[in-house]
Amino acid sequence: MTFHADKLRVISGESFSLKQHDAAETFDISKHKAEKELKDHVKQLAELHELLYAENKRALLIVFQGMDASGKDGTIRHVMSGVNPQGCTVTSFKQPSAKELEHDFLWRIHAAVPEKGSIGIFNRSQYEDVLVVRVHGLVPKEIWQARYDQINAFERILAENDVTILKFFLHISRDEQEKRFQQRVEDPQKNWKISPADFREREYWGEYQKAYQDAIANCSTKEAPWYIIPSDHKWFRNYCVSHIIVRTLQSFHMRYPKANPDVAGVKTGGKQTPR
Ligand code: AMP
Ligand code: MG
Repeated sequence: MTFHADKLRVISGESFSLKQHDAAETFDISKHKAEKELKDHVKQLAELHELLYAENKRALLIVFQGMDASGKDGTIRHVMSGVNPQGCTVTSFKQPSAKELEHDFLWRIHAAVPEKGSIGIFNRSQYEDVLVVRVHGLVPKEIWQARYDQINAFERILAENDVTILKFFLHISRDEQEKRFQQRVEDPQKNWKISPADFREREYWGEYQKAYQDAIANCSTKEAPWYIIPSDHKWFRNYCVSHIIVRTLQSFHMRYPKANPDVAGVKTGGKQTPR
């Protein structure tokens, strides 16, 4: 099967079934080719980011969601490795603080939306409020159910205000998660990544898959599409994500702004000083 990023995009209104997505899919792309292309993408991304920053007209918001050990941190590290830290923010959403819980669930999210000229990365996001919150019954069903529409309305406001949104679900299989947990237990350099809570959450695998199914089906819109990234193979995951980000930035057809007319033609060191 040939690869096309659109195959990973969930179309709004389309009947979506997470079960039909194979977490180990690689679309016949070789590891060698994917790694070579990732390097290219990283370079292109650095250039496109510079343009985004120079133009200062729009922002890009990239949302990462996925089960524990699906590779949210690793993807961010690999794919964004060439990006200038100036003009890029990463926000990791944890359990809300007491103060955050005094506000609506989107309050802390809105505050972290990137400004024009910037790329903002969300490591977890507003979607936790229809995922972990649902799985553990942290609020009644009527409350989390109403949030799908609220999230869609919120994302539409952002999109209409020059924030382009990409949402990546890093899809891993239950077996792959087990393998990665085991590595985290055995490798002293990875021990810090694993906690008893991760094993407890694993017990809720089925409930989480159901919650992801509904979140993705309800909140994949034209303005803010979800992409299902097959993530059992880290190299394929990085390739897909970097490809989609580059493709999105290219679609903006950005140009460097022209020099200020007061500066154009001025020779530095000459007598003339720009007004
Ligand atoms: P980690 O990403 O491993 O640092 O873990 C962050 C933890 O915070 C995860 O267990 C998330 O499920 C949890 N978390 C993030 N957002 C929320 C939220 N809105 N409500 C409850 N728990 C959350
Ligand atoms: Mg964790």
